[in-house]
Amino acid sequence: MKRIAVLGSTGSIGTQTLEIVRQNNDLQVVALAAGRNVERMEQQIREFRPLTAAMWEEEACRDLRTRVADTGTHVCCGMEGLLEIAAMEEAEVLVTAVVGMIGIRPTIAAIESGKAIALANKETLVTAGHIIMPMAAKHHVPVLPVDSEHSAIFQSMNGERKERIEKILLTASGGPFRGKKREELENIRVEDALKHPNWAMGRKITIDSATMVNKGLEVMEAKWLFGVELDRIEVVVHPQSIIHSMVEYADGAVMAQLGMPDMKLPIAYALFYPDRRPTEGRKLDFAALGQMTFEKPDPETFTGLKLAFEAARAGGSMPTVYNAANEMAVSLFLDRKIKFLQIPELIEACMRQHKVLAKPDVEDILRTEQETYEYIRCLC
Ligand code: NDP
Repeated sequence: MKRIAVLGSTGSIGTQTLEIVRQNNDLQVVALAAGRNVERMEQQIREFRPLTAAMWEEEACRDLRTRVADTGTHVCCGMEGLLEIAAMEEAEVLVTAVVGMIGIRPTIAAIESGKAIALANKETLVTAGHIIMPMAAKHHVPVLPVDSEHSAIFQSMNGERKERIEKILLTASGGPFRGKKREELENIRVEDALKHPNWAMGRKITIDSATMVNKGLEVMEAKWLFGVELDRIEVVVHPQSIIHSMVEYADGAVMAQLGMPDMKLPIAYALFYPDRRPTEGRKLDFAALGQMTFEKPDPETFTGLKLAFEAARAGGSMPTVYNAANEMAVSLFLDRKIKFLQIPELIEACMRQHKVLAKPDVEDILRTEQETYEYIRCLC
């Protein structure tokens, strides 16, 4: 029996993780955490009977306590609740599927208490990769990727020597606006940006895919997860989302992982690694697929991608600025307060005014996040 705790259990990755639990009776959920969705959390508690559950919002937490008083599940709140779950002895694996930098401190707490990390929350590595990865190595804790591209890279590295990696080829669908020019993106509506051609995901990451900021965040995530230099990471647009990423080796061989776009595959791979479990989804049919195509990304239209490389090159606290500015800009866009193209514009404005801290600790990262939010509040 493998005992797991899930942070972000009510979200897209969280609910798909719980579907995998339903299909595998050797997984047990010992803790769940979410932000404010009390109804869904109550259903999850009644179905999975975890020892502990946490809600971020105070009111949601109080409400949940009353609703599940008969279940025996201990309910805790806020960051204290997330940290309690991250450190609890009963869990062997922490699935981090919250959105944003809120994931940093629980991930650290879980590593310090010796848990394996199944990492969906890319923002944690983007902003604190220099803290998380050495800490995981020190505590001999695996950080297993859940992101489909990183899972594909991880699978393409099985049995290979890392020194022989020539290039990581990170594939991107190109999102709903692939092929469009800047002028055509002027009046993009929220509904248009939320229509991803291949993947059904949470709202924030769907907008990140439309701006290609998601790919920028993934470049930084890959750099930390696999310990490769930035100029060995290349983004390849592959609209069918069948090849989930590739690794090129010194002899010219390219290893890739292919499959239908279904997050349950990488989630299950992280939970059962190195085993592979049967999944129920559709399988690849090459004849029906017919062809796969590839393009170069367009960094002049999707400036968010270009800025990500710039932020990664600057290093230190700059990726935090990139990430925090994007988080706030996406939230403003979803609230229809700014236009689509203002998302990368705000990221750039924040990056231009920032003075880089070379080796930020967690406090520096969280302060930089708040300063970036403050700067955007002044601009908007
Ligand atoms: P969703 O928005 O669907 O879900 C987010 C989850 O986090 C919800 O359970 C939400 O709770 C919870 N949450 C939000 N804020 C807090 C908080 N302060 N404390 C505790 N829980 C909180 O996001 P996704 O599942 O799409 O994405 C999660 C992470 O995984 C992101 O980092 C994303 O980049 C990454 N990822 C997602 C992929 C996907 O296919 N969706 C693919 C690869 C990576 P509530 O619902 O109660 O607000």
